[in-house]
Amino acid sequence: MRNITVLSGGMGGARFLQGLLHGIDAGTIPGLAPDARVTVVANTADDLWVHGLKVCPDLDTVMYTLGDGIDLERGWGRRDESWRVKEELAAYGVEPTWFGLGDRDVATHLVRTQMLEAGFPLSQVTAALCRRWQPGVELLPMSDDRVETHVVVADEDSPSGKAVVHFQEYWIRLRAAVPAESLVFVGLDDATPGPGVLEAITGADLVVLPPSNPVVSVGTILGVAGVRDAIRTTSAPVVGLSPIVGGAHVRGMAEQVLGAIGVEVSAAAVGLHYGARTGGGVLDGWLVDERDADAVPALQAGGLAARAVPLMMTDPATTAAMAAAAVALVG
Ligand code: GDP
Ligand code: CA
Repeated sequence: MRNITVLSGGMGGARFLQGLLHGIDAGTIPGLAPDARVTVVANTADDLWVHGLKVCPDLDTVMYTLGDGIDLERGWGRRDESWRVKEELAAYGVEPTWFGLGDRDVATHLVRTQMLEAGFPLSQVTAALCRRWQPGVELLPMSDDRVETHVVVADEDSPSGKAVVHFQEYWIRLRAAVPAESLVFVGLDDATPGPGVLEAITGADLVVLPPSNPVVSVGTILGVAGVRDAIRTTSAPVVGLSPIVGGAHVRGMAEQVLGAIGVEVSAAAVGLHYGARTGGGVLDGWLVDERDADAVPALQAGGLAARAVPLMMTDPATTAAMAAAAVALVG
């Protein structure tokens, strides 16, 4: 297999990609060519405008992680970051104050915003930013169109009893501590796939759903017109890895947003939510963690190849072993 396409969110997707590239380089993933090329279709529904800047959290997390510019402890943003711009903005009392806008990171957003305002589509802007970071993958935004996930939460102070906040506000300001009652994917119905996105799926030798959030990362990518059909009909096998381990997310807020779409928080339920391609879904195989081995029979009954292996992405070599298990499952 030479052409690998991965549908990615931010942190979970980026860590998986780091392991996949490590395994390709080290030759530890049987079935993948030594010169295998990885194309990433990244979620852009977390994107937001803040202080006049266009911020693309998932694109940047993938770009910084693979370009060795990420802050490893936080898992997002730039290494050796400082926060003077943020402090100055707070001193002016301008909202929002909750968004983590680091000084180094601001440069990325300035370049992006300037190029967007000059008329370049996000896909070309992303390619330009990647010329600096050399992530070792082709990084494609799922769409050049504006898509934003919004979250409906209870709000006693509002006459309707509800408030609608941007996904980033839900995640960062509210810390996903209040239930997400429902999700609204603003613009998703009208979004067209970015250049190269459908071709990356139909022309792939392998399509991977990494352990990314099934609702607000992979779910939104699958919601872009034509993407789900491309995955259903590609001749490439499609394999996914569970982001839910032992009935909980590893980090992030998958538990909260799975509740909002009525899917149980379990490795089996998420695999069956994606569904087998033979039954109109998007997967051929689904890897679960060893702790969820008892989910395998139900997944197989649902038409999926399934196996339980260690799924904690502790370091690139361990993550490469996960990728190897994923390839073996459907290869
Ligand atoms: P985000 O956009 O930064 O939230 O990142 P993604 O959507 O790409 O990934 C988030 C998901 O990654 C969460 O649901 C986590 O449970 C999952 N995740 C993070 N680390 C691990 C890990 O080591 N193993 C597994 N299986 N899932 C993980
Ligand atoms: Ca994200």
